[in-house]
Amino acid sequence: MRPIRREEPFPQLRKALTADCRCCRGLCCAALYRARTEGFPADLPPGRPCPHLDGEYRCAIHGQLTARGLHGCTAYDCLGAGQRAATSPADWRRDPEEKERLFARFLSLTALHQMLWYLAEAAALLPARSLWEGAQQLIGECWSLGEGDVPLDAALVERQRTRVNQLLRPAHELTLAAVGGRPSPRRSADCSGRQFRGAPLRGRDFSMSLLLGADLSGCDLWGSSFLGADLRGADLRGADLRGSIFLTPIQLGAARGDGQTRLPPFLSRPASWDPSPQHDGPR
Ligand code: SF4
Ligand code: SF4
Repeated sequence: MRPIRREEPFPQLRKALTADCRCCRGLCCAALYRARTEGFPADLPPGRPCPHLDGEYRCAIHGQLTARGLHGCTAYDCLGAGQRAATSPADWRRDPEEKERLFARFLSLTALHQMLWYLAEAAALLPARSLWEGAQQLIGECWSLGEGDVPLDAALVERQRTRVNQLLRPAHELTLAAVGGRPSPRRSADCSGRQFRGAPLRGRDFSMSLLLGADLSGCDLWGSSFLGADLRGADLRGADLRGSIFLTPIQLGAARGDGQTRLPPFLSRPASWDPSPQHDGPR
């Protein structure tokens, strides 16, 4: 099996894109829109803290999240945006101006860190080596845009997202082609509930697909792309994802896996796959 990635080119960046809830102030539990139907405790508009967020910015029901069916909480991952935003000692619960600034900055950083995650992947894919220089340049730009402590103009973030997407698309296509796959002619294919169990799915383009509850257990997914796919409830037990591309922690956290699921080296096994309640999500 030919390697699909070079050795991690930006290990420090990968580290910075790892959520560290101990250095955060419960931002995802207050700043984001959360819906009960998506596995959060209630319908909560952006800016309204979850009633379970305690005085230390910790989740008071951490350890019961799975038992309570709060899979939105266990799956969420900010890719390091939370601790990067929460550098000020000011308490957003007592300071409305700080709250507005901090939450807006967190949302900007969430978007930028998602772009950085995908760019780090593009910069490592061997079939996309012609794009490595461009990816590196965009990584520098995205990181710089997140410096300072003011929120970013939304239009600026969108322009950056467009530029990043213009690089990700060919990176995805080059990699699929190298493993004998090809881009799917249908965007947003609905594969929800499909039974792929054990099938060889090398080079399969699942980008932007709905894979809700799909059975991918035991599948060989080398070179398959999950760019923007919705994997909520998908069964990844025993699947080989080592060579899958554009997977994110939040996709894995929303799916089901087990000790036999094989992952790319830069992705950790989600805590939510552990049946022990002590390991119930990051917060
Ligand atoms: S996952 Fe939530 S609590 Fe943890 S670092 Fe990110 S925003 Fe903060
Ligand atoms: S992790 Fe806990 S505090 Fe955060 S939204 Fe979920 S239940 Fe609320």
